[in-house]
Amino acid sequence: MDRVTPPSADLRSEIVDPPRISLCFLPTPLHRLDRASEALGIDLWIKRDDMTGFALGGNKGRKLEYLMADVLASGADVVVSCGGIHSNFLRQLAAACAKCGVGCATAVMELPYEDAPSEGRRPHARGGNQILDRLFGMDIRLFPDNNWDTLFGHAEELALEYEAQGKRVYRMPLGGSSPLGAFAFWRAAQELPDDVEAIVFASSSGSTHIGLATYFFGSEVAVEGMACDPEPQITDDFADLSRRLHERMGLPALLAGDLRLDMTSVGPGYGLMSDEADEAVEWLARLEGIVLDPIYSGKAFAALLRRREEFAGKKTVFWHTGGVPTVFAV
Ligand SMILES: *Cc1c(COP(=O)(O)O)cnc(C)c1O
Repeated sequence: MDRVTPPSADLRSEIVDPPRISLCFLPTPLHRLDRASEALGIDLWIKRDDMTGFALGGNKGRKLEYLMADVLASGADVVVSCGGIHSNFLRQLAAACAKCGVGCATAVMELPYEDAPSEGRRPHARGGNQILDRLFGMDIRLFPDNNWDTLFGHAEELALEYEAQGKRVYRMPLGGSSPLGAFAFWRAAQELPDDVEAIVFASSSGSTHIGLATYFFGSEVAVEGMACDPEPQITDDFADLSRRLHERMGLPALLAGDLRLDMTSVGPGYGLMSDEADEAVEWLARLEGIVLDPIYSGKAFAALLRRREEFAGKKTVFWHTGGVPTVFAV
């Protein structure tokens, strides 16, 4: 595919937003971590998407502002989606559906995997987001561990079950990673000041990464996604999302080679805990009183700690993507 020219300031102001509803208190706070900065030799700031104020926070609230507008425009009675049992997206989706007066039904596995099931420490299946999913009235269908394609198949069966009852179904992509979800993070990037040099965040289904990387494409800002998913083809999937964002919104299309995705912090696998992440969560909690989660933001922060020398002296933003309820499942 041909390279599309980098965005200009003009393009940024010309873009017309798709319809959105309001769920979050935006912009989320951005503040400096003085003690952590001193300890690491980094000018370290934190973007508090754990504090969106919607359904206990997290980066999915931003995506859902656009996605739920699309759901409402479609006239759907019920949204069907799927994910891992500790999905923060499904929790925020269930809350957004409640607020919009539409149903929410999900196919869930404790451990969806790529090629083979991983071994490792798991958060408790009944804690954290599971409590909130039920509180928000989600119709949860729990399936035994299997691969992602099997989980997608279960979600499609669930959608067909609702359609057989005469309901209009909206099929919601994994993690809200559609062009609308990525667009939400393209917009979110505008909340950062101009002098930021690096952004570090947990990356999984790709729309956070694509939104931020698209916004800063062609600039000096290092957009560093720390993968929480071990899929080898993940950057190709992200590039495909970028192509679809380009088609929908006219933003530049990025190629897999344009993305910086660090695979070193996945640990034993998606949704599984690691000693390195646990230590990183504890480190930040005890230095700054800020809570990360053990399977996404904690892994990303662990990578930042390990790679601290690359960020030395740089104004670096750690984008806190949320996930805090999982702390109550360990
Ligand atoms: C979903 C999620 C991510 C990853 O965001 P994507 O847009 O799916 O890549 C990171 N951290 C937390 C806590 C999340 O819930």
